[in-house]
This record gives sequence, C-alpha cells and structure tokens, in this order.
Amino acid sequence: MSDNLFELIRARVPDPDKIVIHAPDRDISYAGLIALSGQVANALVALGVRVGDRVAVQADKSPEMLLVYLACARAGAVFLPLNTGYTLAEIEYFVSDAEPALVICRPATLEAMRALGARLGVKAVESLGATREGTLWPKVEAASADFATVARAADDLAAILYTSGTTGRSKGAMLSHRNLSSNSLTLVDYWRFTRDDVLIHALPIYHTHGLFVATNVVLFAGASMIFQPKFDADAIMAAMPRATALMGVPTFYTRLLEHDGLTREATRRMRLFVSGSAPLLAETHDAWRAKTGHAILERYGMTETNMNTSNPYDGDRIAGTVGFPLPGVSLRVAEPESGRVLAQGEIGVLEVKGPNVFQGYWRMPEKTASEFRADGFFITGDLGKIDERGYVHIVGRAKDLIISGGFNVYPKEVESEIDALPGIVESAVVGVPHPDFGEGVTAVVVREPGASIDEGAILAALEDRLAKFKLPKRVFFVADLPRNTMGKVQKNLLRDQHKDLFAKR
Ligand code: AMP
Repeated sequence: MSDNLFELIRARVPDPDKIVIHAPDRDISYAGLIALSGQVANALVALGVRVGDRVAVQADKSPEMLLVYLACARAGAVFLPLNTGYTLAEIEYFVSDAEPALVICRPATLEAMRALGARLGVKAVESLGATREGTLWPKVEAASADFATVARAADDLAAILYTSGTTGRSKGAMLSHRNLSSNSLTLVDYWRFTRDDVLIHALPIYHTHGLFVATNVVLFAGASMIFQPKFDADAIMAAMPRATALMGVPTFYTRLLEHDGLTREATRRMRLFVSGSAPLLAETHDAWRAKTGHAILERYGMTETNMNTSNPYDGDRIAGTVGFPLPGVSLRVAEPESGRVLAQGEIGVLEVKGPNVFQGYWRMPEKTASEFRADGFFITGDLGKIDERGYVHIVGRAKDLIISGGFNVYPKEVESEIDALPGIVESAVVGVPHPDFGEGVTAVVVREPGASIDEGAILAALEDRLAKFKLPKRVFFVADLPRNTMGKVQKNLLRDQHKDLFAKR
C-alpha cells in the first residue's frame, strides 16, 4: 500500500457523513473533505502542478487552505505554507529558494504576487480568501471530484516548512509523508484521541502546531474540529461546551485565565488541554488547575522534528517539564561541541532520532549535515536535561545560553527565580556584550499591575538564591515581553535593544 498520508487518513474515516470541520459559515463532512480535496487536486494539476512540485500558500486561515494541503498530498506535490505576516520582500526569498510551480496568495496581494511570479518564473499564481473569494475557488468548483491519489513512498516529501529563524537565513525543513503520519498516529494514541473528540482549533495553519499536530491528530483519529479563524478568548469559551480538547500556545492559556467565564463548570466537558511551542510558566499551569481542575499537558516539538516529548496522559503532568520521549523517539542529552552523551541530570543539547525527524533542509546539504551526528541523531539546539524520573526539562535555546566570565548561565534558572518573587508576572533573561565578562546577564521583567518591586529589591532577593555569576547586572521593566505569533519570547530583540548597555564609554 502507498504511504501517502492522505490514503492513511482516508482509510481511517469513521463514517463519511460525520462532520470533520465545523467552520463559522458551514460544516464539512469526511465525504465532503474527500470530494473537495479531489476537486482541488484536479485544479492544481490543471494549473501545471506535477508530482514533486512545491505549492506555496500565503493565505488567511480557512478550511480551503487545509483542502489545498490535502490536495497536495493527493497529487504528490509538496505543500509549503508561509506565515501570513511575511512581507512581499520576504516572500521573494522563499519563492526564489523553493521554486514553487504554483503560488496561492491572498486576493489583496494577487497583482503584486503575479508580478513577482512572472519575474521568478512561477508557472501560476492564484488567490484564495478566507471565505473562498479569489481566483482559485472557481477553478476548484469547475473541477471533478474524482482524483486517483498518487502513490507515495514513506520518505517522499509532503511539505516544506520554513523555520522562523531569528538568526541567519530561514531554512526549509523537508517533511516526508512518514514524518507526518507516524507522529500523528503516535499522538492519537498517546493523547487518547478517538472519533468522539472535538478539538477547538484556534492556531494558525502555516505552522507545525496548528497544521500538523492539531489538524493531523483530528484527521488520523477520525475526530472533528471547531475551526476558528484566530485566537479569540470569547469564541473558545463559547465552544467549550461542545468540545473535548484544546491545543494552544502558552499565551492562549494566560489570556483565557483572564476571562471571567473560565470556571470548572465551563470546562466540565473538556478532557484535554495541550500546550506547546514555547515554555508554559509553572504559575500558569498551577493557576489553570486551581481554576478548572485540569492539568495542562505540556509537550515539546519543533518544525524539523514534529513532536518529541509529552507529559503523560495518565500520571503526573509536571509543570516546567515537557514529559517523556514519545514512543519511537530516542532522545539523549549531549555536550554541544563534542557530542559526548551526558549522564542523567546533566545539562546539554537535546538530540533526537526517530521516524518523526525531518529529511533535511531544502537545498542546504552542508547545513543539514552539520545538524546531525554521525549516528543519525538530530541536534535540536535546545538545551535541557533529563531528571531522575525521566522527565525532560528544557532550559533554553543553545543560542540563548549566556556565558559570563567563562561560566554558563542558563536563562531559565534565573527567570524561574525572578518569576517566583511577589509582584512579578514573568521575565526574560538575556546576555549582552560586556567588556569584562564577555556577556552580562540582563533581566527584562514584567511586574503585576500596581506592584512596586524594583531593581534593587529583585537583586537583593536573588542574592541568597543564585551564585554571583548568575545574578543579573541590570534589571529593566517593561509592560509586555516581545513575542512572535507562536508565543515565543523574541530574545534577539531584547539583546539588540540592550546591546550597548555595558559598552565602554
Ligand atoms: P518551532 O519550530 O517554531 O515549532 O519552534 C521549535 C522550538 O520551540 C523548539 O526548538 C523549542 O525551543 C521551543 N519549544 C517548543 N515547545 C516547547 C516547550 N513545551 N517548552 C519550551 N520550549 C518549547
């Protein structure tokens, strides 16, 4: 049998009439999903898309964009979603790097994208709006639903997702049919998804979390989703009585905690709250449990690897940890430079191997080779450790590690101490150039409204708790930390902002 992920999804369809997508303006059944994806696949082929071709999509979230994803799988093409925040200049880089046969954009950017496409030799450029407006959908509606899904081998590409890349060029992570299907099947089992589940889907679908984790888990489980165009706390609260699960980034949970409607009763029908893409504060985990009775399940993954670890479904979900390696995933901690495998409890770079791990970076063989060890483990770039119970802890990105006076300072350790002080909401600790120490530890802190704790009080409180070399040299206060759309704190912006702090005058 073919390893085409669409075929695997199709083989698991519970009942063709079952609704899979509850969108704001209509419902789509599994039978509808199959027929429409066939129509889109025929339209793609008519536009010149061949097996192995890339289809780049920068469009607002809609069920139709998911249909384009499934149609690409069916046609043997490679789906390439692009963050809706990218400017035309940024898109130019992706299009010239990936050389898609077809670009699908928002109706408002069609003209500019067609000019860009003509310049870069793209065969076709079409538009797709959030409610089917644009040039693509009339072509889909005119197409037949009969489409013979192209057979694919396990390692054939299904998608390329560009990493958000805060340093250097953004890289295209090549994901195969098996990378996606194996991870989805694992997560369905691990998180006990069944056809009775209804997931609230409020994540963007140009990123691995919303596109693969959330969507594929629903499709592989034969479940359904309430598809929301974007995060809206009121809409999520309104959906909860009809839903069983929510997947979100940590900011979903902090914002929902501010919602008056969040109570035990409101979440009574829900069985699972999953968080990932950025660290969930222990405080958020505790506050959520106190208010709803549910322990948020935190997991860890990345564009290149899909999901690597998860807190258990049964058993303790421990705040501040990302749980255990998923079945089939090998995870170890190694010394970053030498690759020497470290003992339990030691901090090093996390390395993973398994059917979830990507095929390499698009057209970057050297970069790909440098990110894998000789025995096939992928070097994630995340620093962490495994505790005595086997739970994985992440202490930050390797590139965020601070080296001050020759000593390693793990930002998370300092942040946790600051966050535990009264009057503090959260903090981000970065290293900025320092003439004596190489890097100076610098803290950027968000206070609770009305709190008066100041730099001196924070430093005094930390003095007994942290070695001197870990103490921030300066503390700054801000109203909010800068975050990207996936809730990740943009430490590069903070480093940049304070880069001259310790410069010699
Ligand atoms: P992305 O490729 O955009 O999904 O980003 C992946 C990165 O997000 C990982 O390499 C981690 O640095 C971070 N990340 C994902 N999940 C978690 C988590 N639960 N806790 C801490 N960091 C996380």
